[in-house]
Amino acid sequence: MEDRTHSADCVVVGGGLIGMLSARALAREGLTVILLEQGGLCRESSWAGGGIISPLVPWEYPDAVTALVRWSQPHYPQLAADLLAETGIDPEWTQSGLLLLDCEPDAEVAAWQSRFPCPLERVMASRLQETEPAIADGFGTALLLPEVAQIRNPRLGRALARSLELQGIGVHEQCRVTGLRVADDRVQGVNTAQGRFTAGRVVIAGGAWSAQIVASPVPGVPVEPVLGQMIMYQAPPGLLRHIVVHDGYYLIPRRDGLVLAGSTLERTGFQKHTTQAARALLTGEALKLLPGLSAYPVVGHWSGLRPGSGDGVPLIGEVPGVRGLFLNAGHFRNGVGMAPASARLLVDGMLGRESFTDPAVYVPALPV
Ligand SMILES: Cc1cc2nc3c(=O)[nH]c(=O)nc-3n(C[C@H](O)[C@H](O)[C@H](O)COP(=O)(O)OP(=O)(O)OC[C@H]3O[C@@H](n4cnc5c(N)ncnc54)[C@H](O)[C@@H]3O)c2cc1C
Repeated sequence: MEDRTHSADCVVVGGGLIGMLSARALAREGLTVILLEQGGLCRESSWAGGGIISPLVPWEYPDAVTALVRWSQPHYPQLAADLLAETGIDPEWTQSGLLLLDCEPDAEVAAWQSRFPCPLERVMASRLQETEPAIADGFGTALLLPEVAQIRNPRLGRALARSLELQGIGVHEQCRVTGLRVADDRVQGVNTAQGRFTAGRVVIAGGAWSAQIVASPVPGVPVEPVLGQMIMYQAPPGLLRHIVVHDGYYLIPRRDGLVLAGSTLERTGFQKHTTQAARALLTGEALKLLPGLSAYPVVGHWSGLRPGSGDGVPLIGEVPGVRGLFLNAGHFRNGVGMAPASARLLVDGMLGRESFTDPAVYVPALPV
């Protein structure tokens, strides 16, 4: 085995959106950063996701999730513009709006909106087709959040990968972290099949695998894989205007006409797979919303492992008892939406700065 030793101020483990944005933010603060990825950059959950920059039904999530999404939302257009200018790759930030079908503005919605004000329009059933012309008949009142946007996450991943390269961040793909190096309750780096990497700060952004990576010395980190399957139609641009949500399922229109239909929630371990049953389910749900999709082919069907955490609130911050070891993990269904804010919060905490929200909510409280 080749035994190479590398060192930096900070090693980031995991090359999904969370790891890449964390590495980029750390490097922009002047730290030297190495990013280690067991496969290729942005090939797991961050590639598989839908890219909606909002929870599907925002008021059903803890305020701690909304706080991160709310910070990210106005920062995404600038991030996309910066990445386009820097790399030539357009992550296609698009303000499609989020249309929730069969949804009344009840007390829960009102209470949420008073805590997190934003434009929200009630769309009467009789006027639904004016808002979304090809939507199926028969739905009741809808709620429209016109400011909700999406990002084309595989493109965001490609742009970030190029940005890291341009910033001179040491990215090592096909480099699996096999263990942490800890002495006197302080992290010293990581071990990999390619040798040791030394750093006084290590950030675990390993998505669904984060608990495995830190199992020694920190067992019981509450992050577990939750599989999600999606399908994709090749439709003409404009067939669908908004991100549409109904009964846990959703459609996302890309600029070029692709329509993504998601998704399943399956607790089947680390095995990534697609099934005919899920394809039939997602097709059925998609056609219930947009019957016109039946004229167009399904051109993609994939799955990804979300980093599941109980209530969807990620673990961000230094691990109590192991100085220099940080988590940025467990973003479950909203990691794209929370990613820029999570990177900001991580970096502010690491540098001892005040941040935009109370970091205590996210500090890893781990079983002892
Ligand atoms: C079907 C589906 C739809 C989704 N839709 C949305 C959406 O619309 N909006 C939204 O906000 N979120 C969505 N999500 C969730 C979102 O994709 C995730 O929350 C987010 O991508 C998590 O990012 P991550 O970087 O933590 O994880 P990942 O992207 O999984 O990255 C973790 C990386 O760590 C690497 N790694 C693991 N172990 C090691 C090791 N030992 N050594 C080195 N590297 C390692 C992995 O290879 C991986 O590349 C969706 C997810 C799925 C599956």
